[in-house]
Formats: sequence, C-alpha cells, structure tokens
Amino acid sequence: MGLQGRKRLKKIKEYVINRDGMLCCYCDKVLTPETITMEHIVPDSKRGTFNSTNLTISCYEHNNKRGNKNFFDYIKQFHFSPDKLAKYKRLYYNNLKIKILNIAKENHLFKMVDKDDKVIPLAIIQQACQTLKIKPVDFKNYEVMYSFDIKFGELSERKRIQFCFNQLIRIIEAESE
Ligand SMILES: [Zn+2]
Repeated sequence: MGLQGRKRLKKIKEYVINRDGMLCCYCDKVLTPETITMEHIVPDSKRGTFNSTNLTISCYEHNNKRGNKNFFDYIKQFHFSPDKLAKYKRLYYNNLKIKILNIAKENHLFKMVDKDDKVIPLAIIQQACQTLKIKPVDFKNYEVMYSFDIKFGELSERKRIQFCFNQLIRIIEAESE
C-alpha cells in the first residue's frame, strides 16, 4: 500500500474513533490506542468494505470472538439501547446505499447527482436493483434519520462492489425471514 492509501486509512480510522469513541461497541470497555481494533460491520471475509459506514471500534476479545458472525446476530447478547441499535442500522443501510449509488453510476443510470442532494431518486434505486436482479430496497426512513456526503470521485471496481452488494442482500433477506 502506498503513502496515499495509508493516509486514507488513517483518516478513516480517526473519523470512526471520533464518531464512536474509544470504546468497545459490544462491551463498552474503554480502550487505548494499543488495545483498539477496527471492527467491520459486514465482515472483511464477506467483502465488507473499509469505509467508515462499515467500521466501528471494538476490543480485541470481542472482535476475535465474533469472527465472521453476522453483526446484528452477534450484538443480541449485548442488549444495545434502541438509539445504539438505530445508529448501527443507519450505518449498515448507508453502506448499502453507497453501493447502490456506485452501481447506478457505473451502469450509467444517471449522469450527475448534485453533491448536496442527499436523497436517492427512487427510479435510480429501482434501476440499480433491476440491474442486480434483486428486489428494491426501501430507504425512506433512513433518509430522514441520517445524511452523509456521497463521494463520487473514487472509481470502484464494479465486480467487487457487485459481489459485496449481493452478500449484503443475502444477509438482509436472511434477517427478514
Ligand atoms: Zn469488548
């Protein structure tokens, strides 16, 4: 990894620490720079991305114990408050949203999206889902609850995103059964 890549990872890490605090997301233990670990919401092994919407903080023990388990299954034993649970759902759905937008962009489903426009037009979601041969995802509530800057500058590998997206859909579908 080059210097730019390392700088980017450092920035993401700082952002996540600033957002979530130096606490294990599972047990709330206070951590130090030496004991902190970056935890993927969608596991790395399931092609979860190293993006702030897919990352949080945990202690080594809980990171290790969780392994590849589904985040929302694993956290049941920790009895998250409704606010905390809502926060992680927002992150999860926003990560998904980024992937939809990337796919829509790479398939030329839209030419330009205003950077200040935080709402994804329904037509784009529907078309992206059609491209992926999946059922449309409803983001209505999440749009109201949370907003973020969407970066269109970086080109992403289409295949990787598509694979990751399919994995996420499988997880969502498994959860709703
Ligand atoms: Zn912990």
